[in-house]
Parts: sequence; structure tokens; C-alpha cells
Amino acid sequence: MRIVLLGAPGSGKGTQARQLVEHFGVVQISTGDLLRQAVADNTELGQKAKKAMDNGELVSDDIVLSMIKDRLQQPDTDNGVILDGFPRNLAQAKALEELMADIKCPLDAAVLLDVPLDSLMQRLTGRLTCQDCGAVFNKYTNPPRKDGICDECGGKLIQRGDDNETTVRQRLETFTEQTEPLIDFYKKQNKLISIDGTQDIDTISAEFKDVLKRFG
Ligand code: ADP
Ligand code: ZN
Repeated sequence: MRIVLLGAPGSGKGTQARQLVEHFGVVQISTGDLLRQAVADNTELGQKAKKAMDNGELVSDDIVLSMIKDRLQQPDTDNGVILDGFPRNLAQAKALEELMADIKCPLDAAVLLDVPLDSLMQRLTGRLTCQDCGAVFNKYTNPPRKDGICDECGGKLIQRGDDNETTVRQRLETFTEQTEPLIDFYKKQNKLISIDGTQDIDTISAEFKDVLKRFG
């Protein structure tokens, strides 16, 4: 299975991807997670990416593409991949097509997690992320059982630096301008599957499993 997850920031891509990983035994590749790791490790790549991330803008294509190229070449991807947060603009989508044609593994589908933009501000500013395992909770809509503690691994929950109102506003704008055109791009290739992302988490993941099972 080779799937792209499309959706605005806060649409729930990461939450769903984690469930699909468990269910289908594939790997999740999140460019956001890879970039945050690079920033935390203070690598050269991380230093270059940090400013764009803090501002809610896209990190440059050459950084993201070289990162994704490396990642897709690792052997754990043989069983299938879920790309979460990549591609994020047309240039990245075209580069991905070439990459996948090279390794003779075309994309099966792009799944859009469809959520109206006006509900995303609360989701993002209320978001709590586990610093150990990356699980995602929400102060308002999906609180952890114990305040500040991850249900899944007991790790500490933190608020991501870019989940503040100003940066969120910019990230939503970046999505509308640069990522939303990918919906049409994949529609034209007959690869788009759309799922209503306003439903509750378990309903969404049941729907995901159902539409993706034909890709094994
Ligand atoms: P979200 O989808 O909630 O905005 P991500 O974790 O996917 O969060 O991304 C966080 C930030 O990392 C983005 O705002 C952007 O700066 C950067 N980023 C992630 N993926 C990409 C990508 N494919 N291309 C460019 N920048 C990216
Ligand atoms: Zn955790």
C-alpha cells in the first residue's frame, strides 16, 4: 500500500496514520515529524528548516525532497507507506511521482481528510502532542485520561511551538494556497478518495480501513 494523506493542518492525518500503521503493518512517514526531529537534534537541515516552520510557511522543496528520498529508500518501507504531510505543493507532488516511477511503485491513492477550515483553529490551538511517542490529544475535543500525560505511553504532553494562533493562521493560509490544489491534481488522476473528517475518530478510522483494504 502506498498512500498519500491529504488534509489541512489539524484535520487528523497523524492520528489516523498511526492507527493505519497498526492495522496494516505499513510505515508512516511524516515530513513534519522528521523536520521536528531535525530541529530538536539541531542538525544542519534542522537549522535551515526552523524559521519556515516557526512562521507557518513551507520548508524549501529541496530540503524536504532529499529527506523523503532517503526515507523511502529504507527497507522498512517495503510493506507499504503512508505519507503524512507530504506532498504539500504541486512541485512536491510531481517529484513524488517521478520518485515512485523510478522505484516502480506508483501511488495507490490520495486520501483527503475533509474538514472545514473554520473548525481547525480550535483543534490546533487545543492540540497536545506526546513528546515521546507523538500521539495527539486535544484539550477540548479529545482530552487525555490524565492531565498532561499520554494515554498510550505515559509520556509528557506538550503544546507544539507552531500551535499558537498567529502561526496557525499562517499555516491554514499556506494550506489553502499551496496544498489545496493537490486535491484537483489527484482527482484528475482518479486517485482521490475523500473522507468526512468531522466525524468522530473511530468512525473515521473504520472508514479508512474499509476504503484502503483493497490496497492490502
Ligand atoms: P501540520 O500538518 O499540523 O501543519 P506538520 O507536522 O505536518 O503539521 O508540519 C509542520 C511544519 O513542518 C509545516 O508548517 C511546515 O513548515 C513543515 N513541513 C512539513 N511537511 C512539509 C513539506 N512536505 N514541505 C514543506 N514543509 C513541510
Ligand atoms: Zn506517548
